[in-house]
Amino acid sequence: MAKLVEQYIDIAKKRNPGEPEFHQTIEEVLTSLEPVLEANPQYVEAGLLDRLIEPERMITFRVPWVDDEGKVQVNRGFRVQFNSAIGPYKGGLRFAPSVYSGVVKFLGFEQIFKNALTGLPIGGGKGGADFDPTGKSDAEVMRFCQSFMTELYKHIGPDTDIPAGDLGVGAREIGYLFGQYKRILDQYSGVLTGKGIPYGGLQGRTEATGFGIVFFTREMLAHFGESLEGKSVAVSGFGNVAWGTVTKLNELGAKVVTISGPDGYVYDEDGVSGEKIDFMLKLRASGENIVEPYAEQFKSAKFFKGEKPWGVKADLYIPCATQNEIHIEDAKKMVENGCKYLCEGANMPTTNDALEYLQKHNVIIGPSKAANAGGVACSCIEMGQNAGHTVFTPTQVYEQLEQIMINIHKQAAAASAKYGYGYDLVKGANIAGFLRVAEAMMAQGIV
Ligand code: GLU
Repeated sequence: MAKLVEQYIDIAKKRNPGEPEFHQTIEEVLTSLEPVLEANPQYVEAGLLDRLIEPERMITFRVPWVDDEGKVQVNRGFRVQFNSAIGPYKGGLRFAPSVYSGVVKFLGFEQIFKNALTGLPIGGGKGGADFDPTGKSDAEVMRFCQSFMTELYKHIGPDTDIPAGDLGVGAREIGYLFGQYKRILDQYSGVLTGKGIPYGGLQGRTEATGFGIVFFTREMLAHFGESLEGKSVAVSGFGNVAWGTVTKLNELGAKVVTISGPDGYVYDEDGVSGEKIDFMLKLRASGENIVEPYAEQFKSAKFFKGEKPWGVKADLYIPCATQNEIHIEDAKKMVENGCKYLCEGANMPTTNDALEYLQKHNVIIGPSKAANAGGVACSCIEMGQNAGHTVFTPTQVYEQLEQIMINIHKQAAAASAKYGYGYDLVKGANIAGFLRVAEAMMAQGIV
């Protein structure tokens, strides 16, 4: 079976040259499916893997817009509609200079399994543009979003494909995108999630990803009879996901000692708590994409320029910035520091060799496609709210979110044990997500 899986990995590499992030996720997911394919030869006969690794549709488009100086700018927009076996395509839009087809496909592929794990009816999609919102005026961001939606609207819809936010796409961008969609189609629908509360957004959606990550971490620790109370935690990032994570960690009695940005990280010996959590929002709103001002504001904090927080001694590490921020040398530092747990907040923050090293040294990993699924799960609740022309209370949302995260942990742990991997949540999440999609694909014939 190992040989067969290698063949699929080879096909994906040949068909998608120059897209290492996509190759990385294909390799990581498919390798863990070996025992599943062995037990289910019907999947192989039905060409299930051949179909799964090929997106149903990949859209690339030009996004022309005019900047504040009157100069014409051109970006490239993307939407990958990867798999619709269990529901309409669902996944965020990322605006960042690093966005290209390989990043969009990697995120779209991960999204298939993540969405399946939630137990909700949502397929996998993702999109974005190589547009950098840093330092852009509101008017520039609006013109960009309007131009982006002027093409994207042809491909999406509340029952077809429902985008949301991701890196570089927050409430402001979703607002502009929604406004343009409504204007073009004259339709008020739940075509986007992560909307503002006054126009269909879900109360609790903003913090959902971070809260979900912490619920998942809590379950992971509980498996070993431990709790978050009194644990020190190194978090990376300072955006929406990091903010939600830090907030919930504080509520559950943990102490967050770091946050980070592209400029470096800050170590706060007293913990990131109280008004310092609110300061993270100010940092984000400044649009500068730096964390150094935190250390200027609070005496208990020290700024480490150009460094990542992985050399810091902590009980628990929660990367919440972006993909591939933990390399093998970071993994070695973590192990030297006695790291026992790492829970991935960002999508695929750990390289495959770092992951292997950490697991070999008995570090328990909460994989991103399970741990950060709370965001997209609440997006699906937002879709339900919009379709039902109703409004849910934060309590209703939080209760569902917590239950979903508990179930995801349970499913991943059970799938891992069933296929002989012990308590390996990385493999278990891949398997549990895959099985749900595979069964739906089998039932629907060769499409
Ligand atoms: N971008 C988020 C993710 O990576 C949320 C997607 C959504 O809500 O559709 O899952």
